[in-house]
Formats: sequence, C-alpha cells, structure tokens
Amino acid sequence: MSKRDYYQVLGVSRNASDSDLKKAYRRLAMKYHPDRNPGAEAEQNFKEAKEAYEVLNDPKKRSAYDQFGHAGVDASGGFGGPGDFGGSGFSDIFGDVFGDIFGGGPRAGGRRVHRGADLRYDLSLTLEEAVAGKEVKIRIPTLVECQFCGGTGAKPGTSAKTCPTCSGAGQVRMQQGFFSIQQTCPQCRGKGKVIEEHCGHCRGQGRMQEQKTLSVKVPAGVDTGDRIRLSGEGEPGEQGGPSGDLYVQVLVKEHPIFTREDNHLFCEVPIGFVVAALGGELQVPTLDRKVMLKIPAGTQTGKMFRMRGKGVKPVRGGAIGDLICRVVVETPVNLTERQKELLRELDETVQAGGEKHSPQSTSWVDGVKSFFEKMGL
Ligand SMILES: [Zn+2]
Ligand SMILES: [Zn+2]
Repeated sequence: MSKRDYYQVLGVSRNASDSDLKKAYRRLAMKYHPDRNPGAEAEQNFKEAKEAYEVLNDPKKRSAYDQFGHAGVDASGGFGGPGDFGGSGFSDIFGDVFGDIFGGGPRAGGRRVHRGADLRYDLSLTLEEAVAGKEVKIRIPTLVECQFCGGTGAKPGTSAKTCPTCSGAGQVRMQQGFFSIQQTCPQCRGKGKVIEEHCGHCRGQGRMQEQKTLSVKVPAGVDTGDRIRLSGEGEPGEQGGPSGDLYVQVLVKEHPIFTREDNHLFCEVPIGFVVAALGGELQVPTLDRKVMLKIPAGTQTGKMFRMRGKGVKPVRGGAIGDLICRVVVETPVNLTERQKELLRELDETVQAGGEKHSPQSTSWVDGVKSFFEKMGL
C-alpha cells in the first residue's frame, strides 16, 4: 500500500513551521480522534496524522524524510525501537533503557483513555546491592481488578447495559439556541454503557485498593536514575482496559568508602608518611574482597592508583570499570618528645640534601624567589 505524503496528510506546506505543524495536527486529532469518532476510517485517519506529525515534528526525522521520503523514516525501523521484548512480567530493564532512546513515553496507539495509570516506585539500594544485583520484594498500593465482578462494576451475574440516553455512543447533542453542542453523555459519562445494579464489593468501580507484593530482579550494575519497567504491573485499566506499567526507579545510597562515577569506583586511602617515603604494601577494600596495594617509595599525597577491572560491571554490557585509590599522606599528630627529637634530627639531614629529597618544595621555593625578584620585592 503506498503511503501518502506526510505534508499532504497534515495539509501543510513543505516549509511549515513547528507551530504550523502542531496546529494542523491538533486540528486533525480533534477531528479524527477515535474516542470521539468510533469507526475504522476515522481511526485510520487519526493514525496517519499522528504518524506524519511524529516524523515531521522531529527535526532529525523530518530532514531524513525530506531527503529520502518514507524510506528515510520507515516506521518499522524508526519507531518504537527495540523496546519491547514482549513477555510481560519481570525486570524488563533493557526494554526501558533502550526504549528511552526514542523518546520513550507510552507506546503508540490512539485509545489510551481506559489504560490504567503507570506507577512509580523509588527503590533505594546500597552500592553493594546495586553493583551485585539483587532480587527485592516491594509492596505497592495499587488498584486491582475487582475479583467479584471481574472489573465490570456490575453486580455479579448481571452485566452492563447499553446506555439508553446516548444509545451507546457516549456523546449527546444538545441544542442551545442556534448552536448544537456535542457533549459527553451525562448518564454514562462517555462510557456508552450503564450499570443497573452495582457490584457491592467495589461499589461499581470495577477496581479495589490493595497492597500487592512484587518481586523485582534488579540486574547487576544499575545506578541512580536507572529504571526497571515491570510491564502491566501498574494500575489496571478501567472496565477491562489494559494495565499501566510500574517503573521502579533506582536510587543508590551514599557509601562510606566508595563513590561511583560511571563504572569506576573511587576511594581515598590515608597512608602514613613513613610508608609514603619508604614504600610498602597495604590492604585496600574492593566491594567484595580485599586486595593489596603496592605503594612505591617516595609516593606523594594525591597520587592515584588504578586497579583495572575492580570497578563496576555495567548493566548495559561493556568493560568492567576500575577501582581508583587516591592516596593521602597523613601527618602524624600527638607526638612524644622523643618522636619530635627524631623528626628534628631527620629534618636536618633532609634539609641538607635540598632538591635531592624535596623536589617539589625546592622547585616551589625557586619559583617564589623568581616571582619576588620580578615584582621587585
Ligand atoms: Zn466489583
Ligand atoms: Zn450514555
């Protein structure tokens, strides 16, 4: 089937501005929206307008369309992305992560009025849990389909009847003076059906508030800001409509030792000034074990040591990050007289050695000297 030109579909010129597009789309959406216009033709028109608008409203897709026509933005490859891997249920994280690249949002489709709301749950994890992955149980308040009436809201054994006021259309025409105004049917509130006898358990709502426990598989390597989508675990739709999704939003707590940046872990390691001077080995933690860190003789404060592959395994695949230890040389405090004496003795010999022992301060002192000379001080 050949497709119509997107500009033609929206009835705008090829150099239409963003606001022209939006206006044209709005007008068509009002005209053809399936919730107002039951019928296959209106739905088809609506879909066509929506598709045209989605392409032309995106500068990248619009320029691809201008250059290559429909082939440039072929809907089978362009929209939706590799998002849904099908399969309802748990830990559909990849669908979410990749789905977001295409602007995310609810999946396309005209009829959304009866779809249940998406829910969000903030999941707080320790750094260790986020890095290792974990299965957690969460309890969420949600509306579930009433099991007594099967979500219809009608008393068990009875069923909803076509609304007599609007004959099932959901809309009524009212005459006001010269004007004929279309309104949502006051009796059925647009649903087209009325319930004669309400289900007593849900008071005709078809849904009941409940706590439900869900098991969430958090994949290893997640970080703050990652979302795990549990499709279909949001609020159930009204009167048999599809359920929304539940988004589990990951929040990683601060760690006393490590900070994470991308897939690298950073930590600060204090070392004594004698170890810094003479060199040595010390134990440093990684997230799941201890490793030995070799400190070479003459290590200065601020020196970073990188341990490859001791960081985080990224959730979306790729190389494992590194553990980076920043050494801070600690000045000894609360010295005894004897210790002070030894240090003074040491200092004399170090001073005598000059640049040989203290390259940094020697070059600093030299720099300051020449600065003073330049300033005439
Ligand atoms: Zn019920
Ligand atoms: Zn009605």
